[in-house]
Amino acid sequence: MSRKKTLLAISSPSGGGKSTVARYLLNKYDNLKFSVSATTRKPRANEIDGKDYFFLSKEEFLRKISEGDLIEYEEIFGNYYGTLKSEVEKAKSSNHCLLFDIDVKGALSIKRIYPEDSLLIFISPPNLDILKERLIKRGSETEEQLNIRLARAKMEMGLREQFDFDLMNDDLNNTLKQADKIVTKYMRV
Ligand code: ADP
Ligand code: 5GP
Repeated sequence: MSRKKTLLAISSPSGGGKSTVARYLLNKYDNLKFSVSATTRKPRANEIDGKDYFFLSKEEFLRKISEGDLIEYEEIFGNYYGTLKSEVEKAKSSNHCLLFDIDVKGALSIKRIYPEDSLLIFISPPNLDILKERLIKRGSETEEQLNIRLARAKMEMGLREQFDFDLMNDDLNNTLKQADKIVTKYMRV
């Protein structure tokens, strides 16, 4: 049997529920820490620099790329998002597991770079209408951003078969239970 994993990547189309699942797991497991990504997106009202993201200017982000500080990065919805090498190094040296809230391509990059250490969970919305409803209800996007996010959802759903697990997020409690089961079985938490 292969050894337990230390890197957990959770992906879904925007509004699919990955942050909700991530928050639940991070609350439950002391040994699981959030990988704080860098982004050029502007902070939302409730977001804190250094906790939710490192909010950078485009120039600062491009410098990080050229200095080799990012493990992977993608341009998504008109902004850059990337995983910092320092987050993974910190996790290794302090021996904790790391949770990535990351887009599908980023998750597949993590798998390619750390094939033995990573576990990938995809969170599927029951369907695209429900996804739209949840995004509208969350109220965090302008109508333009909402449409951009929904347009990307189809591509993202098309890559879910490459994930280790695909959880249908219909009833939230059930989704959380399933995610928890996977984590206790496969992660070194
Ligand atoms: P993501 O991080 O993937 O963009 P969120 O976790 O923010 O998605 O979820 C989008 C919205 O849908 C949030 O308002 C969240 O509370 C809600 N939500 C998540 N899962 C469910 C569910 N199973 N049923 C109903 N609403 C949900
Ligand atoms: P949001 O703007 O909703 O916070 O994030 C938009 C998308 O970027 C989400 O799918 C989120 O998971 C993804 N994302 C966040 N951080 C990273 C990262 O470091 N790398 C990649 N590839 N995607 C990320």
